[in-house]
Amino acid sequence: MIYNLGSINIDHVYRVPHLPAPGETLAADSYTVGLGGKGANQSVAAARAGARVLHIGAVGAEGAWARDRIAGYGVDVAQIAVLDVPTGHAIITVDPGAENSIVLFPGANQALDLAAVLAALAGIGPADTLLVQNETTHAPAAAALARAQGARVICSAAPFDLAAVQAMLPHTSILVLNAIEADQLCAALGCSLDQVPVPELLVTRGRDGAEWICNATGARAFVAALKVQAVDTTGAGDTFAGYFAAALDAGQTPAHALTLAAAAAALKVTRPGTADAIPSLSEVADFLS
Ligand code: ADP
Repeated sequence: MIYNLGSINIDHVYRVPHLPAPGETLAADSYTVGLGGKGANQSVAAARAGARVLHIGAVGAEGAWARDRIAGYGVDVAQIAVLDVPTGHAIITVDPGAENSIVLFPGANQALDLAAVLAALAGIGPADTLLVQNETTHAPAAAALARAQGARVICSAAPFDLAAVQAMLPHTSILVLNAIEADQLCAALGCSLDQVPVPELLVTRGRDGAEWICNATGARAFVAALKVQAVDTTGAGDTFAGYFAAALDAGQTPAHALTLAAAAAALKVTRPGTADAIPSLSEVADFLS
């Protein structure tokens, strides 16, 4: 089973002719509101990939619809608290080339109660996976508990913050980075990827595919990105991470997990939106056949 200590954001998405420059006022061509947040995206992706998922997180009262939407994808939302603070939200601009820029307000994601988080993880064990990203409080404590109880911990180092990543390294089984985050981490630590002190890494490189690296054995696996017409790359990395985690949690090899995750992420980028645009396992299977 997958436990995901994860953010829940309401995404406000504006399609713009180009990403706004400093000082520029720009009219958007369209506006949509959707479910997002790296945590919610990864929960939905893992559930769409067929995993049993318990999401641990929080929203504000006006964000209760987001909790219901997550539940609608088959995720257990019993550990999503409704707090008296604003729901986390993101202002996302997307240009015609599908490039995006994002402003985040963390809100309820930063107001989680440590005791409640640890209580939600009480039953985690060696057959389970904990997912964390860098958008909620208490990830290191949750990861320490999960590892102590024998679970696999998959940590997405995003949004990148060196101190936050360093706090997670001792408790992480698989560190997930995109290309920019990988460069930032290696520059900060003054080492190459295979010297980062975690057992395994998953590095996604957009149109250049993704790589799994096992530092313990030196094993590596690579998957190319599938050729698609990209319209919105928001959530591609989360779709990849959620599918990859679900496949490993189900006992698949890293190589097979990469294949499924690359197909799921490629399908996602052909669709506008984030959580609501993540494909199901049967869509991914059709795409691969
Ligand atoms: P993030 O969204 O975290 O920045 P990436 O940009 O690395 O992550 O994308 C994650 C994965 O999504 C890639 O490894 C790739 O498999 C897939 N992907 C991203 N962009 C494209 C694209 N334009 N075409 C096909 N696949 C893509």
